[in-house]
Amino acid sequence: MVTLPLYLDCHATTPVDPRVWAAMVPYFQEQFGNAASGSHGYGWQAQGAIAQARETIARTINAQAEEIVFTSGATEANNLAIKGVAEAHLQKGRHLVTVATEHQAVLGPCGYLEKLGFEVTYLPVDSQGLVCLETLEASVRPDTVLVSVMAANNEIGVLQPLAAIGEICQRHGVLFHSDGAQAIGKIPLDVEACHLDILSLTAHKIHGPKGIGALYVRRRPRFPLAAQIHGGGQENQYRPGTLPTAQIVGLSQAIALAHNLQREEQAHLKTLRTILWEHLRPLPGVTLNGHWEQRLAGNLHITVSGVSGGVLLKAINQVAAVSSGSACSSGQGKPSHVLLALGRPPREAAASLRFGLGRGHTKAQIEAIAPQICEIIAKVRHNGT
Ligand SMILES: *Cc1c(COP(=O)(O)O)cnc(C)c1O
Repeated sequence: MVTLPLYLDCHATTPVDPRVWAAMVPYFQEQFGNAASGSHGYGWQAQGAIAQARETIARTINAQAEEIVFTSGATEANNLAIKGVAEAHLQKGRHLVTVATEHQAVLGPCGYLEKLGFEVTYLPVDSQGLVCLETLEASVRPDTVLVSVMAANNEIGVLQPLAAIGEICQRHGVLFHSDGAQAIGKIPLDVEACHLDILSLTAHKIHGPKGIGALYVRRRPRFPLAAQIHGGGQENQYRPGTLPTAQIVGLSQAIALAHNLQREEQAHLKTLRTILWEHLRPLPGVTLNGHWEQRLAGNLHITVSGVSGGVLLKAINQVAAVSSGSACSSGQGKPSHVLLALGRPPREAAASLRFGLGRGHTKAQIEAIAPQICEIIAKVRHNGT
């Protein structure tokens, strides 16, 4: 077996919590029924488990159970939200507003809509990664059908002011969507307080299984949303397909657990992140990316100037599994669009490291790894590029 370095890439994915796993297990073999089988007990068992999961998820975001639509993850949820709203509101207009630092799962559907003739405004961010509320409000037009702003950034962890944005959207009568993939369970997310109409969720960033997520779709008042997958009538026609009971139970357990542990867990992660930063901060050439306070507790993102990004990442990966940016785009060898949006030149953007801390990380681990990381950074900088 290969020995792997310490995993510090929790924005890419996380291990399934044993409590989540234990809750899922009965639904693979014992209670394997199809929730759409209405005439017998096998179906009823699955139905019961799914109904309970729906209720649990809804409660943590201050929604109603019938407002939760299960999807295969946040990518699918974002596609349903953005393309589904655009398609269903053609009579109102063909304009959408989003942010330059969004995840590919938002930028992708927006780009697709642009090819179909829609117009998309990509709001800039300031050097700290935050959107400007005045610019956002000024970008809303009579033909705007959706504003989509992520809750927490997957690279730099920056938290956008959702409640203030929601208020602007409400005032202008525009639907408000947020990609909550990195935020759910880590910060309080309240669809009423934030005036959210649509919210995308996923399980695997908070110690749940991969391949399951959900879309919150406001029912009061109800608005048109066009399904993007066609088939049976599941999930109020929004998302047909046999519901994966075990995955859904896993999603709900992961959300409930993160929600219940939130205060304590996030305080712990903030302590660890601060320890790591205190080690890295004095190094020449090391700078922080993203707002220090308005960010996820488990996120630290730095740029190391004067080094090659490839050399740096390879060296650090000997001791710690981190990435330079999003797992979804890092394979393409392009500097991160998020760091470019912060105003980083391409070469600096490429020489960046994202640390993602999560459940199970200890102070001892971080205190042991931090000096090793510092030593590697110093060595890479000394050797030049
Ligand atoms: C991980 C992530 C996604 C994609 O979620 P999947 O469930 O893997 O499809 C979307 N948005 C953000 C912000 C993410 O971090």
